[in-house]
Amino acid sequence: MTTFSVANSTPLQVDIWQSSDDSSTHSTDMSIAPDVKEQLIELIQFLQIPYETLVPDLQKAIDENMKQNGVENNDGVFRLDRYHPLDEIQDWLLSIAYEYPEITEIIEVGKSFEGRPILVAKISGRSSDEERPAVFLDAGIHSNEWVAPATLIFFINELLTKYEYSGHITYLLNHVDFYILPVFNVDGYVHTWTKDRMWRKSLSRRANVTCQGVDLNRNWPYMWDELRGASADPCSHAYAGPHSESEPEVKAVSSFLESLGANLKAYIAYHSYSQFWMTPFAFSRNARPQHFERIAIHMHTSRRVTEAISGTHGEQYRYGPVADLYGEATGSSIDFANGALGVTYAFGVELRDNGMFGHLLPPSLILPTAEENLAGLLELATIVLEEKGVSRAADTRRLLESNRN
Ligand SMILES: [Zn+2]
Repeated sequence: MTTFSVANSTPLQVDIWQSSDDSSTHSTDMSIAPDVKEQLIELIQFLQIPYETLVPDLQKAIDENMKQNGVENNDGVFRLDRYHPLDEIQDWLLSIAYEYPEITEIIEVGKSFEGRPILVAKISGRSSDEERPAVFLDAGIHSNEWVAPATLIFFINELLTKYEYSGHITYLLNHVDFYILPVFNVDGYVHTWTKDRMWRKSLSRRANVTCQGVDLNRNWPYMWDELRGASADPCSHAYAGPHSESEPEVKAVSSFLESLGANLKAYIAYHSYSQFWMTPFAFSRNARPQHFERIAIHMHTSRRVTEAISGTHGEQYRYGPVADLYGEATGSSIDFANGALGVTYAFGVELRDNGMFGHLLPPSLILPTAEENLAGLLELATIVLEEKGVSRAADTRRLLESNRN
């Protein structure tokens, strides 16, 4: 919740959905309670800010989205073009890992505030490379962004089922370890299915604090205390927490990332929505990754990745630093990966759409979103391997030679 107030009037409670600081748009999407709607519109008109109503009735839109998802007639089949509650996702994860035991491992990296396991799928092919670069992906750090977990579930399924069938995926899995965490904020995600579809934060509680939860993407130990685009107010949707890494979920994942050491070559955090492919940094508009080469790498990589994305279904994803596209935000995971761990290939992705459905993206758009972003991921992993000198052409040549011998 963010509070807008004008002199001598009651504060207006609104929920910020997404903001964009991009020079061409500068917009904020928010939801407001019906009883303050008129007051807020009056204020916005008084300030001469242009606005439009995207979702006239939020509850109706939520109901419609759930109806399309067809949860009421769930026949036990795990469909990739549907949203799933946490228990179904985690059961599916364990069962698919059981089907592909040679290339999958499920790692519990820690537990949430309410004691739920945080599960990462490690997927790697059967080659004997010693120093394999690790690519870590996570989604659902903000629990209302349902298309992000659905996208990573699709990635896991594709990597496992296409290994030894798709040349590109086989090549990548033979040289890269993929670590995929489909639901980061497990407690919050359960809450979005049971209590409040728009819940974004964790569910932690503190003594003498009324409001629950911390924004897990403002809680990382990098520039945490500068508090820009983050709040010290426990009731804010962007509450940074009482101290950095106060949340067990962040602590668990940051420790795991650290444990990967120098092997960790790429980190991507998947969010929704806005269709952005974002580079470091988030914490300040004036901060740029220290080395010029890094900026060049970020721009070159982003261009190739977004071309791969738009080449799939024609959707455009804009790229640039988080602080420029989304706005400044301190204590974020990609700043931690880049700034604290020195991971050059650290990116944040805002998936579909551009605000038409926002967090209530129809299930029919899960697969197109996931497919175009798989193309982006494969391109990124290819770039990581090229840098290491393992090009696909050289790999194919080596395979052919070893077959000939
Ligand atoms: Zn997010």
